[in-house]
Order: sequence, then structure tokens, then C-alpha cells
Amino acid sequence: MSASAPIHPHAPIDETHDPERRSWVESANAPDSDFPIQNLPFGVFRRSGGDGWPRVGIAIGDRILDVTAALDEDLLEGTAAEACDAPSMNPLLALAPEDWRGLRRQVSALLDRDGSAVPSEAVQERITVPMAECELLLPLEVGDFTDFYASIHHATNVGSMFRPDNPLLPNYRWIPIGYHGRASSVVVSGSPVRRPSGQRKPEEEGGSPSFGPSRLLDYELEVGIVVGGGNVLGTSIPLADAERHIFGLCLLNDWSARDLQAWEYQPLGPFLAKSFASTISPWIITRDALAPFRIPAFTRPEGDPEPLPHLLDEADRAAGGFDLTLEVHLRTPAMEEAGGGPFVVSRGSFRDMYWTPAQMVAHHASNGCNLRPGDLLGSGTVSGAAPGSRGCLLERTWRGTEPLDLPGGETRKFLQDGDEVILRGWCRREGRVAIGFGSCAGVVTPAE
Ligand code: CA
Repeated sequence: MSASAPIHPHAPIDETHDPERRSWVESANAPDSDFPIQNLPFGVFRRSGGDGWPRVGIAIGDRILDVTAALDEDLLEGTAAEACDAPSMNPLLALAPEDWRGLRRQVSALLDRDGSAVPSEAVQERITVPMAECELLLPLEVGDFTDFYASIHHATNVGSMFRPDNPLLPNYRWIPIGYHGRASSVVVSGSPVRRPSGQRKPEEEGGSPSFGPSRLLDYELEVGIVVGGGNVLGTSIPLADAERHIFGLCLLNDWSARDLQAWEYQPLGPFLAKSFASTISPWIITRDALAPFRIPAFTRPEGDPEPLPHLLDEADRAAGGFDLTLEVHLRTPAMEEAGGGPFVVSRGSFRDMYWTPAQMVAHHASNGCNLRPGDLLGSGTVSGAAPGSRGCLLERTWRGTEPLDLPGGETRKFLQDGDEVILRGWCRREGRVAIGFGSCAGVVTPAE
């Protein structure tokens, strides 16, 4: 990998990405920290104990910068900092990219250990709080959740299981396929996920379905795209502007009940097989933080059509992708008891997506549908060509025909009660300070 990444016109590199910059929060300077001063992701937290109202904070090492406290000390200023005194990121998301970048530059300067006005230790203690002493809450009030299907490898693999003679439908290379998900059941990492019950596909062709707990519970490794700004109903978002409506990215687990899905998905797509829970990570990694990790959009294989003009933009083609590595870890109750794990089930890359996040945004608004601050878009399962990069158990165990061998002699085709799924993600590039996404975890609990 070279140090010279393509630069997206809407994501410039500035002093906040300086690899030499270090923080007076010492834990942020550890080489394996997910949250160095170059990252500065946003989330919503509540201090444990006394003064526990939820508000927006910024992760730095193993601490959280309390933006509101820093504002009260006159160490930050402006509309974006003021918008952080809220129980969700939505007021902040309603602002413009220039506001977000302005706050990032102020915060980076404030946390810089070599900055011009390093706060006294007493002030440092007042404006930051140990993450371990906080509860991390759902960072945004999700207005609408739309889930895409942007990995051609995932679409082809799943299609070949459900429709062996016709795995990839003819629209796939023309439109970013998606469906409207459910916002009310988006939960933050750490929330338990109850096994859903529903109509399970008949065991035999022509048979009757049965109602009961899903027997084929799965996860889906995805990237969440957090929408900021938005468009007025009846207007579209040109692809060249679409990045401005992406505040940042997070990890997303689109839990899926495959036996319910197989029975219900035709003709209108997934419904109850997906709507029981979707978990996101607590920290939203800003598009600014990701600027050094941009890559060209997916290279379409020879013979694939060019996208139609409204999905085609030179800047997006040159730098619309993200060099983001993603992993799925699994911890079973037996592994936990033995003090082992978690076990790495797969490792994939967000570079394998056929469509860029900006194309998803532009496509979503191309009919005049209004996107709003706090909307959440799922990328679709991130799967690559190699078996070890398949981002769900359906693909990883090939519908249960190739069970996973876990440490301790256990096997898994699909998830069992008590299993914990942990998603992780990070960006690394030579000459840059690596940044992480934290984790997105959930334990499966027994059906109601
Ligand atoms: Ca999905």
C-alpha cells in the first residue's frame, strides 16, 4: 500500500490527519488504540452515577470528550459544538459538512498535547470521562433504515442458494438493490438480541409452514452509512454532491432469520426475517476521519455495463471507496466458560462492494424521496470472493452444509442461544495513523 491515497474533493486532508499529532489523553497514543487523535468519532454517552443526562461525546483513547463540558469551559465554540448538548446526534447531523469539519479541527487542536493551549489537569478531568464509567447509547434517532445489497459476491452466493439457475438478477449491475428496513428495532452494541419466532419455510416442497423460534438465525456483517443534511421531498441528490450527505460510517449487524426469510421474501423482499433487530456500533466514524483511507470505486469486471449517468461521477469513481477491513468474531457460552475466544469467523474488506456509499445515497434520492438527518443506510453484507471473507453464516457455512469448527470441538451452522457476535473494523495505511471502529456486539437470547 502506498501513502498516497486518492483524495475525494469532499473529504480533504488537513492538520487533523497529521500522523505526528499526539493527544494529552495518553491512551489515545497507543499504536493499537481504535481512537487516536486522528479518529475523533462521535457517539452518545451518559455518565454513570449522578449527573447522568445523555449527550454527544467524542471518543479519544479510553476516554470520552464531553463536548458540552468543553463548551462550558469556553474551550470550544460554534453551532456544531452547541448541537452536541442533545440526547442524540440528530441536531448535529442536521448541520453542514463545514460545521462538522470545523468542530473536528477545534477538538483536534484542543486534545493536541503540543497545542497552543493545553488545558490544566483539573480541566482535563472535567472535560473528559473514562469510557468505562459511561453507558454508550444509541448515537442517533434513526428516522428510516434502508438496507442495500452492494456486494456482488454476497448477492451471487445467496442467489445461487435460493435460485441456482438464476443467481444474479439482471437489474443487479444497474441499480443498487435495497429494501426499506425497520428503524424502531435498531439497537446499540451490547443490547441483547432475542431469537425471533415466525413462519418457517415448509421442510418439503408443497408442505405447510410452521410457526416457532427461528432455527436458522444468522448475522450479517455490514457497514452503516449515517446520513447528515438531506434533501427536500421532490428533489434529488446529484452523485457529485452525495458525499456531503454522508456524515460517517459505523458497523452494522443485520441479524437475519434465514428460515423465515426463505418463506416470506418473494415477491416483496425481506420483512419479519430482518425487522426484529439490527445492531450498530456506538461510535460513528466521520467521513473526515476516513479521508486518508479513500480508494477508487470497485473495478467492474470487463463486460459489466457502465452505470447510468446519474450513478456515474469521476470523483466517485476515483475516490468513492473506503479501504476498511472488517472482521466477524464469535464467542459461544462454552468458549466463554473455558476463558477462550472469541474466534475469528471471517475477514472481509469494504473495498469489495460493487456500489459506493455515495451511489447508494444518490440512487435513494433519485426519485425525489427525501433523506433526512439520522437516516441509516446499510451497505448489505460485506463479502469478498474468498470463502474466508464471506460476511454471514449462510455463506460461510454454505447454508449449513459446511459447518464451522470452533475451538473446543464445537461446530456451528447457524447461531445458538448464548452466542455472541462481535464485529470489528479498522483502516490502516502506510504513513497514516490507523483508526478503528470499536466493536459492534450482541448476544443471542432465547425466543420469547
Ligand atoms: Ca442485510
